[in-house]
Amino acid sequence: MSLKYHIWTIGCQMNEADSRHLGSQLEALGFHETAAADDADLVVLNTCVVRQQAEDKAVHRLDAVRKVKQRRPHLTVGLMGCMVGMKEAPKLKERFPFVDVFMPPSDTEPLLDFLGEQRRYDTSHLLETRERALRDALQDGEHILPALQRDRSVTAHVPVVLGCSHACTFCIIPYRRGAERSRPRDDILREVRKLAEQGVKEVTLLGQIVDRYGLDRGDEYELADLLRDTAAVDGLERVRFLTSHPNWMTDKLIDTVAATDKVCPQIEVPVQAGNDEVLERMRRGYTAADYRRVVRRIRDRLPDAAVHTDIIVGFCGETEAQFMDTYRMVEELRFDKVHLAKYSVRPKTIAARNMPDDVPPEEKERRRKLLDELQERILAETNRALLGDEVDVLVEGRHKGRWRSRTAHGKLVFFDDDRDLRGRVVRVTVDRTGPYSLNAAACEGTAQATRAVAGVLE
Ligand code: SAM
Repeated sequence: MSLKYHIWTIGCQMNEADSRHLGSQLEALGFHETAAADDADLVVLNTCVVRQQAEDKAVHRLDAVRKVKQRRPHLTVGLMGCMVGMKEAPKLKERFPFVDVFMPPSDTEPLLDFLGEQRRYDTSHLLETRERALRDALQDGEHILPALQRDRSVTAHVPVVLGCSHACTFCIIPYRRGAERSRPRDDILREVRKLAEQGVKEVTLLGQIVDRYGLDRGDEYELADLLRDTAAVDGLERVRFLTSHPNWMTDKLIDTVAATDKVCPQIEVPVQAGNDEVLERMRRGYTAADYRRVVRRIRDRLPDAAVHTDIIVGFCGETEAQFMDTYRMVEELRFDKVHLAKYSVRPKTIAARNMPDDVPPEEKERRRKLLDELQERILAETNRALLGDEVDVLVEGRHKGRWRSRTAHGKLVFFDDDRDLRGRVVRVTVDRTGPYSLNAAACEGTAQATRAVAGVLE
């Protein structure tokens, strides 16, 4: 009888990649994926704590799993990700005693050890020796997609820098994901090749500060080199990277994006605030003027770049005037996407220890809404300018009976077509626009324009 696993994932793309990796390892051990936690022998919750809301969701979900375990005591429960961090496991074990195994972010070893030690699995079909051999092979870089995603996933995330050593005062990530460390390039490229062999057409290289790739390894091989080598992998159509930091955005990186066809002209470079005092309190390491220069440099060297950013409103001590500096920066720089967050106190961070969370919740919401409305107006205008344009989109899958796809600049495009286009690059004509997505019609002759991809069928 085969054992079933269920992974619940919340949070960033890094968590999605970790869950994919864990799923593929469990399948190598003979587990099969199930969509229902109720039906599983093993449930793993992959958690995020970057904001209180995400942590609350994980606690809520843990409560649901506790009830399943009460009914089915043989269920194995794993907790993974930023809630566990590098050293929270003992405290969590007291709080959630029904959890069997705790895994720090990107580290599946504790679960593999746990399964290896479990006698009851040995008496089923999982012999320890086979398990160890498989585990060694997987740890060696044999990353594959879980069966249900194989030949269906068009896009995948690939972590290249783990952890973060920057320690912004608001951020819990360095405490939970540990110090910055870059993965060896051969591991990354092996993983990308494997993904491409299994039908993936677009990979996004991930890091908290992805443009610092390689610096901790002390070799000369940087993100720009990795992007070029990734783009050369057979079968891939597109490469993206997330997230940049203004201080590490080199000309070499921008020029590589400009010169490498398959690397999408999309750069996510979080500003967090447009006021120097707030930036100083956040310990971001740049001023608003520095940030403007970075965006200018990107747009000079890569004129059609889509520039995305992250902003936190209502950080400790943020006055109305300081917030308005951020507002004016958004108005001026006309970002292609803004990820907005209300400041949320995170335990043990420098801000939590030293700075009062003194912007009231309703004021944080007012500021968030103001920026959201501004951004919506800007996007409505910039997208309207695309009306009638022909754009190449990579078709990611179905959505409410239509094709969902993305331009190289990351814009979401919906269109109708009877053919199976999943995983193909298709030329479409934009015929309606809104702030968050575009509507299009497939162009005449799209059949010639599409690059057929064997095996990527719905
Ligand atoms: N490392 C990148 C940087 O800051 O340059 C971005 C990665 S960070 C984990 C993802 C986003 O979460 C941040 O850009 C920030 O906007 C948001 N974030 C982090 N800590 C937060 C907090 N305490 N409250 C609200 N948002 C937060």
